Amino acid sequence: MKAAILTVGTEILFGQITNTNTVYLSQQLNLLGIDVMYHYTVGDNPDRLSDMLQYAYHDCDLIITTGGLGPTQDDLTKETAAKVFGDELVLHQPSMEHLERFFARTKGRMTENNRKQAYMPSRATVFENAYGTAPAFALEKDGKILICLPGPPREMKGIFEDHVRPYLEARSDSVIHYRTLRLFGIGESALETRLLELIDGQTDPTLATYAKEGECSLRIASKRSTLEEAQAAVDEMIGKVRALVGEYIYSEENEDLYQVVGRKLIDRGLTLACAESCTGGLFAKTMTDIPGISEVFDRGIVTYSNRAKMEELGVREETLQKFGAVSRETAEEMAEGLQKVSCCDICVSVTGVAGPGGGTPEKPVGLAHVCAVFGDRKICAETALRNSRRAWNRQYSTLLMLDCINRLLDGRE
Ligand code: ATP
Repeated sequence: MKAAILTVGTEILFGQITNTNTVYLSQQLNLLGIDVMYHYTVGDNPDRLSDMLQYAYHDCDLIITTGGLGPTQDDLTKETAAKVFGDELVLHQPSMEHLERFFARTKGRMTENNRKQAYMPSRATVFENAYGTAPAFALEKDGKILICLPGPPREMKGIFEDHVRPYLEARSDSVIHYRTLRLFGIGESALETRLLELIDGQTDPTLATYAKEGECSLRIASKRSTLEEAQAAVDEMIGKVRALVGEYIYSEENEDLYQVVGRKLIDRGLTLACAESCTGGLFAKTMTDIPGISEVFDRGIVTYSNRAKMEELGVREETLQKFGAVSRETAEEMAEGLQKVSCCDICVSVTGVAGPGGGTPEKPVGLAHVCAVFGDRKICAETALRNSRRAWNRQYSTLLMLDCINRLLDGRE
């Protein structure tokens, strides 16, 4: 089934509102196995709306519109849609009763304009709007379907969930199922190379790689006649992907690394402390974004200066002099010192050159050393990706700290 999404509203063309309805509907149709071929937007103008509807009608099996169903003069979607689909508006008594109940409940005064909302194309399947006044509807002609939904996203989504999805499911012959894997420690091109045999000649399931800030994701999608078949095909492909790049996968459910680590710590009741230099508290901030983390997150110390590293964590002066503040040795003494001070199960440290200044040929901007300790087990790592952007380096160092903890938790030293 080929679909077009047509959003109506001059505000969208002016850039005054973001067209989130198109994004939502595209995602939902995609999940139903319906191919979205076009996104159109027109202002509140019946002639242009009519042109667009006719254009989409010729090329697609399904057109979904949002907006222009309200009670005011410029809300013309319904009238225009009825004309294009060769129908006329007639009073829809259940919608009139719904409107009367709505106004009685909200103690509002019903105007003539509001009554206009109860007029529907005579052949329409009407979808009651439990979230507002404008009812939505579907209209069919020559095997083509037009669905008109109101503009406010809350109403549009509510009606989609309640009525449109079941209506489309009953008419669709395929389902798309997908899962997104998240990977850290491998770049997008290296990932593609490692998966070449699976990506080359792929038809179903399909694999698509995406680069995110410092990490990668891999979307595996299958379109089959039943959800069970699509799920089985995706699961089988995930097995093949695991065999090739399993060591880099940290989530098979599209979760962020901090969420994965937070959940494991909470589930296992393991306490955590961190000592940060170049990230200046970003790691602690990231962890404390997780609801319920207070059960396990004990403390975060920002030891920016050499003096702070010595006083708070017992880093030795000789270590700082011999290897420098940005070194594996300093990171190790920071984490081990923190272990003594906090008695936490897992202690993690970071020290690096955030930039943009302060780099040297031996210690360039973006270099950061991380050390995570768990009892007598330890993982040390240094940043592989480097950048002159301070914010990016801090972000990437934080991810590396999370990755080290995740590996310790999984026993993947
Ligand atoms: P109403 O009954 O509220 O008049 P309507 O169906 O006539 O609904 P519009 O008047 O076109 O819808 O839009 C109402 C509001 O819905 C807009 O002011 C905007 O806030 C939101 N909206 C409309 N279209 C979109 C869109 N494509 N994406 C996100 N929000 C939208």
